[in-house]
Order: sequence, then C-alpha cells, then structure tokens
Amino acid sequence: MLFPGGPRPQPDPDDAPYWSSCADEVLVFQRCGDCDVARHPPAPRCGHCGSPSTAWRPASGPATVYSYTIVHHPMHPSAVEAVPYVVVLLEFADVPGVRLATDLIGPQRLDVGIGDEVEIVWARLDEACALPLAVPATRPPPPPSAPARPEEIT
Ligand SMILES: [Zn+2]
Repeated sequence: MLFPGGPRPQPDPDDAPYWSSCADEVLVFQRCGDCDVARHPPAPRCGHCGSPSTAWRPASGPATVYSYTIVHHPMHPSAVEAVPYVVVLLEFADVPGVRLATDLIGPQRLDVGIGDEVEIVWARLDEACALPLAVPATRPPPPPSAPARPEEIT
C-alpha cells in the first residue's frame, strides 16, 4: 500500500529480482525454469514440479480485477488520511495462475467491480523503489447508436 511514511518493501533473496524490476517500472513474474508455471509471490521452488530453477518474464497483457475490498478502517497509522482506499487482486491474461494484490487509485476507484480491466501505473518512492498500482482502464466510448430509421418510429 502506498502511503507517505508507510511500510516499504523489504526484498529477500526470492523476491529481490521482482523489486529490482519494479524499480525499473517493469512488472515481472517469476516462472519455473523447468516447467514454465508462473508463481507469485516469488518462492525458492516451483509449487508445481519442485524445481529450484527460476526465470523472470514481464507481464504485458491487460489485467482484470479478480477481487477487491474497500478499506474504511486504516490498518497502519500512515493510512489514516487515505481511507477509503481500494485493494484489488489482479489477474493477468498473459500470466495465468498469478494474482497480484495492489491498490486501485484514481477518482473512479470506488466504482470498482469484479472483471473490470485495469492498467498498471507506477508510484515512485525513490530512485531504488517503485510500486505497481492499478487505475481503471480507459475504454473507448461506446459507438453511437444508429439513428432509428423513419419506418421504426411510430
Ligand atoms: Zn516447475
């Protein structure tokens, strides 16, 4: 969660490549180097085949809201001014089986719904740290409805 003075990521050996990539504003997910199954959060071994081999690949496709919650009671003193805020669990079309928890931001955040498409944006905390956040995807306006033909008007 992104709040001034809030907790910051504390990379460990398993997720350090994830946070390093986030610092470059590239969202990557860990994959098994043997069976290619993706996993998140990063772990030392594949939950599918048990291999310790890992690879990292960027997520490039759109993300959708799998679930969400609207937080009204701050869980950290730094979040008092931020409530209500929206925590979303995202799925990525090009990384099946992986879900990312993050904040949904923007003026329309409280209108969130399951299945909504979102875009990843970056909140830069400093030179070494950026956090992936989500904003509702901008959709093209619906096509104008065809004017009624005169014979349809009664
Ligand atoms: Zn595997």
